[in-house]
Amino acid sequence: MDLGIKGKRALVCAASKGLGRGCAMALAEAGVDLVINARGAEALEATAAELRGFGVKVVAVAADITTESGRAQVLAAAGAVDILVTNAGGPPPGIWSDWERDDFIKALDANMLTPIALMKALLPGMITNGWGRVVNITSQSVKSPIPQLGLSNAARAGLTGYVGGTSRQVAQYGVTINNLLPGIHATDRAVSLDSGVVKARGISMEQAQAERAATIPARRYGTAAEFGAACAFLCSQHAGFIVGQNILLDGGAANMTL
Ligand code: NAP
Repeated sequence: MDLGIKGKRALVCAASKGLGRGCAMALAEAGVDLVINARGAEALEATAAELRGFGVKVVAVAADITTESGRAQVLAAAGAVDILVTNAGGPPPGIWSDWERDDFIKALDANMLTPIALMKALLPGMITNGWGRVVNITSQSVKSPIPQLGLSNAARAGLTGYVGGTSRQVAQYGVTINNLLPGIHATDRAVSLDSGVVKARGISMEQAQAERAATIPARRYGTAAEFGAACAFLCSQHAGFIVGQNILLDGGAANMTL
């Protein structure tokens, strides 16, 4: 399917690895020029080189997107974009009694206030152009909270509420905002979460992964490529009537009808 976005320009945050990288790859394949970001320059440059293989222009900005100065750097390099994909690393696991105010502020900064700041900076240009797409990478935890990820549950719930209202204010200008909710995907983040299980239960990584996969109706982890394809579709010309949705990509793990 031709996604109809060849020649558009996108900012994809936290995109050197994992799900952000999957989104950047799928957009590049659709002919979208990219500004990509991550903190570590080496992996970021390697991803940028791979993306250029699709024949698109790629600017790579090594910066921490969760800080004001990092965002300023990224936004200066990005200028006006047609497509924004927000993403950042997820907060650490723990239990309800672990977290103090500073832990919540850090999680809110990374997973709620950063995407909001990016939308505030870039939505006006999209509105002026009469066309725009925003996809926020959030989490399955928005619909089905994960007990040990309380910081993530809290921050992403806040972003979801903001998107619910904002998406319905900007849709009239041809700008859509939607959230993609990953369940478990085979990325470094999953390895880090599974390492916690390995440590806590004294089992092997293979066993931890097999046990987790067995809880998913699809009986496997998702891939960054299939996540990226869903993101590219939401950014396509065909997705203009999809507004303010929270779309689960979880192999059926969250057992619910809505
Ligand atoms: P990942 O494989 O660990 O990749 C994270 C990417 O983000 C890397 O490119 C990393 O590069 C970059 N990054 C992290 N913190 C950053 C920051 N402060 N500023 C800029 N770039 C940053 O993670 P993932 O699995 O793709 O996860 C992406 C998001 O989805 C996370 O918020 C995660 O919590 C959420 N999620 C993932 C899963 C899953 O199963 N994978 C499930 C639910 C939710 P640098 O480290 O070099 O900055």
